[in-house]
Amino acid sequence: MEYIKKLNNPKLVEGLLKEISYNKRPIKIMEVCGTHTMSIWKNGIKELLPQNIELISGPGCPVCVTPKSYIDKAIELSKKDNIIITTFGDMIKVPGSNSSLKREKAFGRDIRIVLSPLDSIKIAKKNPKKEVIFLGVGFETTAPIIALSIDIAEKENIKNYSILQGLKTMPNAIKTIIIDPEINIDGFIYPGHVSTIIGVKPFYDLSKEIKIPGVVAGFQYMDIIVAIYFLVKMINKKEGKVKNIYNRVVKYEGNKRALSMIDKIFTPSSSIWRGLGNIENTGLILKKKYNSYNIESKLDIKEMKSKVNKDCLCGEILKGKRKPIECKLFVKICNPSNPIGPCMISREGSCGAYYTYGKI
Ligand code: SF4
Repeated sequence: MEYIKKLNNPKLVEGLLKEISYNKRPIKIMEVCGTHTMSIWKNGIKELLPQNIELISGPGCPVCVTPKSYIDKAIELSKKDNIIITTFGDMIKVPGSNSSLKREKAFGRDIRIVLSPLDSIKIAKKNPKKEVIFLGVGFETTAPIIALSIDIAEKENIKNYSILQGLKTMPNAIKTIIIDPEINIDGFIYPGHVSTIIGVKPFYDLSKEIKIPGVVAGFQYMDIIVAIYFLVKMINKKEGKVKNIYNRVVKYEGNKRALSMIDKIFTPSSSIWRGLGNIENTGLILKKKYNSYNIESKLDIKEMKSKVNKDCLCGEILKGKRKPIECKLFVKICNPSNPIGPCMISREGSCGAYYTYGKI
């Protein structure tokens, strides 16, 4: 706490904002991580910036980028006999094509919210006659604990535990955003949580390749102001570099133990992202040795064509092309009590953040 008190220094903020205000050109900065989005809204950072600096939210909310087809599969699974679905909380509210896990739970399906996949292992041990399926969504941040749950299941010979695979990885998804000529991002605030696991190196390589600067930043308002300050400098000097200002937590090489656990259990794969489509090398799937923990190898799941809600702009918002306010359902029809898309449900979703902290 003492550290955070020192970090949040209003005088320093004032000085940095003054420096930022000397910028003369329009600049678009994307914050990739949903926690940054929340912090930006919560601390009114957009209001502090000059009009020529625009902050755009990216695809950093794991619930938001999970495609509807995944939710539909989870719902299908929940309807089968002797199944317990375990999941992080936000997932149960996300609408699928015809239902949601929350609705299915109300109908009596065994769907349980857990704080960790390790809780799902405990549930599997207590219910040996049932298959316990953990909804394995998230980024590099969640991957190590899911990998650990598989490792434990294997070592303890727990056969009734599996995951519905949906893990995603970040660097290549960012590259896809850059390739889109309609988006035109000048700089990135790279995801702090993901960086604690994968380190700074993948972002150094990425920025070198795409020639766009990035800053790995923490989540205090001061972290974000400093990140913007450095980005504006680098953008004006045309430097495609990466700066790590979150080195109190993020190491160049990342978290070696977590990375080796991921590497033990998973292998890179392509992955389908809501809004971005199927992207090579942006997913993690179980290695062949562990494929018996993949529920899709254990049970037949009916493939169904997911229904698209054309009015929900969540996919476009995740690419930074549209803003929540541009969605005709925003507030009037879609709000936290009646969420239509995942961007309104997740605590890290752009629509939810705009609804909670924006001027409506
Ligand atoms: Fe989708 Fe609701 Fe956001 Fe509109 S306001 S884009 S319907 S989540």
